[in-house]
Amino acid sequence: MNEQTLSMRLERVAAHVPAGARLADIGSDHGYLPVALMRRGAITSAVAGEVALTPFHAAERTVRENDLDLQITVRLANGLAAILPEDGITAISICGMGGETIRDILDSGKAHLSSKERLILQPNGGEQPLRLWLMENGYRIACEEVLRENRFDYEIIVAEPAEQVRYTAEELYFGPLQMRARSPAFLLKWQRMLRHKQRTLNHFARAGKAVPEETVQDFAQQAQWITELLA
Ligand code: SAM
Repeated sequence: MNEQTLSMRLERVAAHVPAGARLADIGSDHGYLPVALMRRGAITSAVAGEVALTPFHAAERTVRENDLDLQITVRLANGLAAILPEDGITAISICGMGGETIRDILDSGKAHLSSKERLILQPNGGEQPLRLWLMENGYRIACEEVLRENRFDYEIIVAEPAEQVRYTAEELYFGPLQMRARSPAFLLKWQRMLRHKQRTLNHFARAGKAVPEETVQDFAQQAQWITELLA
């Protein structure tokens, strides 16, 4: 993967960035996403935010080597602190981190949100707490997708500011739009997850009292939801 050839995962993220956006890519690492989009003329400008020094320098290098210093600003900052009001950001991407980490970045950076931006999020697990945060903070889920690459199932969640939306516990778990669309990738992901949950429940049964009853109940509930979804 590089700024010319994105992974399929980042290519699908790129597809959800509105044409002409002013993008903030938080946790940008090498800066491949904003640089690829800028090279294609798909966005107007970008901020690449990084909290760690090595990826920050890598992003600076990618931007410099592509002569995009005027269009893309690389900032060393924690989460949404990379965004300044004068950037006029219209879309934020946060990809390749756990859903809880993305949620914490959004929650601690609320002051940097204008409540107008489209959020394009690609959590690696922890989708449920992330969707819960979105629901509780005035966002609706506008698009969702599941894709498989290199033996991993990836989810992309696109959210937009909206009037109060209520999602059920199952919708927060599976994704409200994916539950309805039932794409082949989505169904395959949950078939694999069901096998995993059932194996874990078997281990729990063998471990007896060593596993807290609450944990067993939680796994049993998830296995039941998945079974009902796939029925
Ligand atoms: N977004 C890229 C992608 O999806 O391919 C890179 C993902 S990489 C696994 C995660 C990056 O997020 C790392 O470079 C890490 O330093 C950065 N990161 C983690 N927490 C962050 C935070 N609070 N603020 C900014 N960057 C963060």
